Amino acid sequence: MKQSSFLLPTLRDVPSDAEVKSHQLMLRAGMMKQIAAGVYAYLPLAKRVIQKVENVVREEMNKTGAQELTMPTLHPSELWQETGRWDKMGGELIRLQDRHNRDFALGPTHEEVITSIVRDYIQSYKKLPINLYQIQTKFRDERRPRFGLLRGREFIMKDAYSFHTTSESLDEEYQAMYDAYSNVFSRVGLSFRPVIADSGAMGGKDTHEFMALADVGEDTIAYSDSSDYAANIEMAAVKVEEPSSVAEMVELVKVQTGEAKTIEAVVSELKVETKSVIKSLLVKVDDEMVLVLIRGDHELNEVKLKHALEAKDIRFASDAEVEQVMGVAAGNIGPVGTNVKVVADYAVKAMANSVCGANEKEAHYTGVNAGRDYQVSQYADLRFIQEGEPSPDGKGTIQFAQGIEVGQVFKLGTFYSESMGASVLDENGKSKPILMGCYGIGVSRTVAAIIEQHHDENGIIWPYEVAPFQIHLLAMNSKNAQQKELADHLYTLLQSKGYEVLYDDRPERAGVKFKDSDLIGLPIRIAVGKRASEGIVELKMRKSGEMVEVAIPEIEELIS
Ligand code: ATP
Ligand code: MG
Ligand code: MG
Ligand code: MG
Repeated sequence: MKQSSFLLPTLRDVPSDAEVKSHQLMLRAGMMKQIAAGVYAYLPLAKRVIQKVENVVREEMNKTGAQELTMPTLHPSELWQETGRWDKMGGELIRLQDRHNRDFALGPTHEEVITSIVRDYIQSYKKLPINLYQIQTKFRDERRPRFGLLRGREFIMKDAYSFHTTSESLDEEYQAMYDAYSNVFSRVGLSFRPVIADSGAMGGKDTHEFMALADVGEDTIAYSDSSDYAANIEMAAVKVEEPSSVAEMVELVKVQTGEAKTIEAVVSELKVETKSVIKSLLVKVDDEMVLVLIRGDHELNEVKLKHALEAKDIRFASDAEVEQVMGVAAGNIGPVGTNVKVVADYAVKAMANSVCGANEKEAHYTGVNAGRDYQVSQYADLRFIQEGEPSPDGKGTIQFAQGIEVGQVFKLGTFYSESMGASVLDENGKSKPILMGCYGIGVSRTVAAIIEQHHDENGIIWPYEVAPFQIHLLAMNSKNAQQKELADHLYTLLQSKGYEVLYDDRPERAGVKFKDSDLIGLPIRIAVGKRASEGIVELKMRKSGEMVEVAIPEIEELIS
């Protein structure tokens, strides 16, 4: 590719609104353009990297026998209503209507769609197991899209769904996906860690997140310094000796001010299948008030709340703020049954899982009495594990690290197949709901994670496997006939040997070319300069900075 005609709008200055390195560097290296908050155009250089990552994913998925398909991004609401997620998803689901006023959503994930396909085409256990995947744009109206491709509202995901008759078969596929993910992330050059994660809403059990290690990561990993133990801190709760006084189960609910509603109304609107909402309180998230419903049916909720609060820089609202926002005295915002001015449109992400995850429907939340209806002590004694404490597996000491969730594998169980009626006849002719697993990789997020791990003060340092081109060929003075001739020759030669070459043939100064070259970060740089007349060029490795002068015959030999 000749750089003179390549759309590569590099920037000198660091864009002021980009906080993290990957975002800054992708903008500076002319890889993407923001079109709306959390929505980006991937320019040609980025597109090449994305394709490479996709191909690594595709190769590793295909090796396991998974089959690629493409599902629609436009989902009819009826499918989402079958599982109840049309209501449960809240604001993250982008909804729209067609000209006939029919409701649709832009797919944030595809369990409903894939289950509708499998239930129609697979009736016998003989057709199972099967794993179907796609690589596609997903839509989520994140409440805080940020950090460029790390948290977009439109992003590329590989999502796979597996279907089984036995739990042994699901276990096997889970392991196969776990291994495939390890291969993918190793191949694209990431330093990563699989961690035990929270299965929350989906009713499944086993789940692991794949975390790319990076300081900007939004997740905290608690890991042992001398064993394989590693967990998302949400899952690393430990018992405390002294029961905490703020020991309560919680649910976060986003509220807006303005309309008077009872907490009961909010709860029923949310379709929270809550066992016992026993208290409510308000906290402030950014500039929004958040209502916290406290309930008693999930052991880890308090721990999760604390983490969610810390991670999102949330603090408890003062009495004065409560009064100002809610228009009633703080003391009146409390037990269930109190009238407060709230409109809850969706559960905040941090707690979305537990909103869906409660398992007993409307058991008794009205008029619940803490002392009578639940025991504080049964869940009062959980807190986050701390750095330096013994690891829960008894081996070594806990350390903390920040991670970017680049993938997740998940045993779903039968939640979708049961609610959508996807079953097969087993060996004995008996109808059984299909067991499912789902497996996601954030492809565009992975690209950003790679940059977070591979850069220096001058720019990106692409790992070879995902580099947009392997070689950056620079004609230092493209007006010099000898240099141009030699560079042209190398360009043709290298390409004929199968290398992907970006050829900087622009009439720019040497300084500009070198700067852009470091910024773009291709693994190998070949500069054709003053010594072209002697048939000598300069070769530089972007990663090590190692630089050597080589004669053309040597290059020819090297690549033959
Ligand atoms: P997060 O906790 O970061 O919000 P998630 O757990 O909601 O992610 P999943 O539903 O597990 O995401 O989706 C599978 C993968 O898709 C994630 O592991 C992540 O790599 C990627 N992903 C999810 N949300 C986004 C986003 N807003 N932007 C870019 N990639 C995303
Ligand atoms: Mg999310
Ligand atoms: Mg997550
Ligand atoms: Mg996830």
